[in-house]
Amino acid sequence: MGTTLEKEIKRRKTFGIISHPDAGKTTLTEKLLLFGGAIQEAGAVKSNKIKKGAASDFMEIERQRGISVATSVLAFEYKGKKINILDTPGHKDFAEDTYRTLTAVDSVIVVIDVAKGVEEQTEKLVQVCRMRNIPMLVFINKLDREGKDAFDLLDEVEQKLHLRVTPLSWPIGMGLDFQGIFNMWENNLKFFTEEKKQKIGDSIEIKDINDNLINDFIGDQAAENLRNEQELIHSVYPKFSKEEYLNGTLQPVFFGSALNNFGVQELLDAFVEIAPNPLPKMSDIRLVRPEETNFTGFVFKIHANMDPKHRDRLAFVKIVSGIFKRNTNYLHVRQNKMMKFSSPAAFFADKKEVVEESYPGDIVGLHDTGNFRIGDTLTEGEKLNFKGIPSFSPEHFRYINNEDPMKTKQLAKGIDQLMDEGVAQLFTLEMNNRKIIGTVGALQFEVIQYRLEHEYSAKCSYEPVHIHKACWVETDDEKSTEFLEFKRVKQKFLAKDKFGQLVFLADSAFSISMTLEKFPSIKLHFTNEF
Ligand code: GDP
Repeated sequence: MGTTLEKEIKRRKTFGIISHPDAGKTTLTEKLLLFGGAIQEAGAVKSNKIKKGAASDFMEIERQRGISVATSVLAFEYKGKKINILDTPGHKDFAEDTYRTLTAVDSVIVVIDVAKGVEEQTEKLVQVCRMRNIPMLVFINKLDREGKDAFDLLDEVEQKLHLRVTPLSWPIGMGLDFQGIFNMWENNLKFFTEEKKQKIGDSIEIKDINDNLINDFIGDQAAENLRNEQELIHSVYPKFSKEEYLNGTLQPVFFGSALNNFGVQELLDAFVEIAPNPLPKMSDIRLVRPEETNFTGFVFKIHANMDPKHRDRLAFVKIVSGIFKRNTNYLHVRQNKMMKFSSPAAFFADKKEVVEESYPGDIVGLHDTGNFRIGDTLTEGEKLNFKGIPSFSPEHFRYINNEDPMKTKQLAKGIDQLMDEGVAQLFTLEMNNRKIIGTVGALQFEVIQYRLEHEYSAKCSYEPVHIHKACWVETDDEKSTEFLEFKRVKQKFLAKDKFGQLVFLADSAFSISMTLEKFPSIKLHFTNEF
């Protein structure tokens, strides 16, 4: 018999769904919640998609979320497990938001459209997961439509995503001829009937692949195909190993149709059985294990209140170890300040509510008036900082100018807080203190302008600046002649990020390679984490 803490840890599974927009992430999320009984009908989960690619669209989504922040974390119970789904924006302009959320998940499900195959955004996100050895399950969606051949698709997943896959379910036909799936995980066949759309289809148990029942249900030809395909699968793909899945070296694949609620339960049943419980996390001084009695956690997301009358924000904290308790003093490590929280929020599919206690794997939302920054750590007193929330070099850069001299303070505060939320990155030129905003997508510039005006009553304008990449500068010796020479020559291109780290704002790829050649003792990094 374990303690309550140990029992609660074993019950928890915190994961994210990643995909290219339109592959079916929202639909799958919704079907998972239906199984968990967390929602009653389809259509309850709001898509976080930015359709027109306009800032107004984004703002509308954010406003709606402000009202029901629950969409950032969706929790439900299934087979005695508490499952937390963390929402990840699919739009590429918000990729950084997704990278940060991935630091708070213990596993992911990758959704791929059977017709489109592996798409750009999936590649990028999977790469991040691979780097962190996050366990991944793959769900190939939209089997009710004509798509690519299943074997070809697995090849594509292996090649483009550099994954080592093994199917745990297999489609029988596809598109108009889609008959169902053979569940290799549980050895049964499930039949597809489109009329049953939102309902769970019938399935038959079979003893093995040579069972004649298969012929009775899908016909001799399809049965023979299935047997041949199974033989091929067994000779080509590795046998499933939970251990390899957990250490990120093997990725099981499932097929289905989220829209028709088909193949989703197979995925969920396998997920609850194999997906990891909350994992230990590395800090700057030691590995922190969930079972430790002292609470620790870190902020991976900050959500601003879109109502200008209440400028408070919600900081999302992932609990790493121990039990988080309401109204208890915790150390905000970066500020070296004790803080307590009277109304920490827990999230469910359709609501958020104040919680007394939360366990590792859970997310709590803390009301914040500007104390938190993404990456901040909370502990019971120990001075440790969790690692792994990097900033990547932005893709777009612009000078930001103050358009209303009477509102200089508001502007500075607004910029500061928006940067804390991780909306964009700020670089201050060493030479003249001019401020440059760097973003992942062009959309953020509009978002920043809009929010500065509506939330901080400040006005800004932008001016083009020619920068190719931001490179974080590393040197072993700040006093070396070489480093001083580098600083002299590159004076015009040097800036500080918001943590005071030195950044070289290179105007071309050529300039980066020339710099590296000329100053061999200096290292340039495209992320601030090195
Ligand atoms: P997201 O952008 O990844 O969240 O994708 P959505 O869940 O919003 O789905 C995008 C579109 O694909 C919507 O029109 C869905 O109805 C549709 N869709 C999702 N799953 C399926 C499926 O299994 N079959 C078919 N035919 N369409 C699907």
